[in-house]
Amino acid sequence: MSNRSAEITAAYAAATPGLGAGHALEAKLIGPAAYAARLSAARDAVNDAGLDAVLLGFGADMRYLTGYAAPALERLTMLVIPANGAPTLIVPRLEAGMAGDAPAMRGGHVACVTFGETDDPFALVATAVKAGGRPGSAARGVAVSDRLWSTFLIRIEAALRTHGSITQTQLASHVIGKLRMVKSAEEAALLRGAGRAVDTVVMAITSGKLLGRTENDVAREVRERLNGAGHEVSSFAIVGSGPNSASPHHEASSRVIDAGDAIVLDIGGVFGGYGSDTTRSIWVTGLNGEVPPTDDYLRRYEVLKRSHQAAMDHVRPGVSCESVDAAARAVIDAAGEGARFFHRTGHGIGLEEHEDPYIVAGNTTKLVPGHAFSIEPGIYVEGVNGARIEDIVLCGDSAVDALNHTKRDLYVVAG
Ligand code: ZN
Ligand code: ZN
Ligand code: ZN
Repeated sequence: MSNRSAEITAAYAAATPGLGAGHALEAKLIGPAAYAARLSAARDAVNDAGLDAVLLGFGADMRYLTGYAAPALERLTMLVIPANGAPTLIVPRLEAGMAGDAPAMRGGHVACVTFGETDDPFALVATAVKAGGRPGSAARGVAVSDRLWSTFLIRIEAALRTHGSITQTQLASHVIGKLRMVKSAEEAALLRGAGRAVDTVVMAITSGKLLGRTENDVAREVRERLNGAGHEVSSFAIVGSGPNSASPHHEASSRVIDAGDAIVLDIGGVFGGYGSDTTRSIWVTGLNGEVPPTDDYLRRYEVLKRSHQAAMDHVRPGVSCESVDAAARAVIDAAGEGARFFHRTGHGIGLEEHEDPYIVAGNTTKLVPGHAFSIEPGIYVEGVNGARIEDIVLCGDSAVDALNHTKRDLYVVAG
């Protein structure tokens, strides 16, 4: 390790937030009052949509509205937000203690209804929907979590027919999605913390040794460092070396990293509930700089950098998501490399790794301050190598607000 890179590593180690930092920041920033405000916005959205209720199973919507990260298990856990009255959480008795500890429940903003092993939770859902339905009008319908398992959905629909005669179901994302898409200042602070934390991992990996190690070994180091930097979950560690760098979603394998390999390093996790996700590209030379980057690779990398910058420069309130994609694509197309950039430019990020808004042709959603998403163009030569640059950004009041700050140049690592 050179003096310079040792210096950088030390500087970043000093800036590393440390174990549990994400959770601590989340608890400090988002309290019961924030959940009460979100729940009331959700109830307004239910009324605006002309629905009787929205029904949310475990997952990001429930977490967003209550702070409760329900386990993904076979027993039903369901948050019912009716058009009228208080939200209800229907929860298995054995998980009631855990659910009751979540901020919205502790704050008294959600009533818990528990059920035993031989009770019918689906009848409880139907009863809660009926009790909170729209007054003075026939039952109209409910919205349900997009990712609700069939085992729940089929039985909920049957129970609603039996108890409440509701036949229409639609996707909850149409009702709740627009609330989650625009991040509050507190959520933006958590995303910023996630970005800082993941940057320290990029710095550590790119200033360490790579030659002769397996992709799996580097991925293991990434996961350890993500946790050490305050992430509660290390969700993914893509280490694509050599030809594997041309496969955008390659994870990691037993392939040994060799001199002359390009590496696409795409890593991220969950920090205080919110996702981090960044990609940097690396070229590994021999210990004495043997097998430097090829002219072809350097030329494509410069095109990629300009593409990334063009998309960043384009971000501001009022422009469409698809125009950000077009800005990135125009640069790569003009260089004759368009066919090698075959994925969208980015995805929204928040409580989920991938969520609205997607930065893709056809998405005419206009950016507003608080939208959070990735900008990640890539150029891939099948069977040879590839490169990608990815940052998470917020749409600021007048321009882009980048949440990743490691240098966007090609990282040339000797040995
Ligand atoms: Zn991806
Ligand atoms: Zn990524
Ligand atoms: Zn991404």
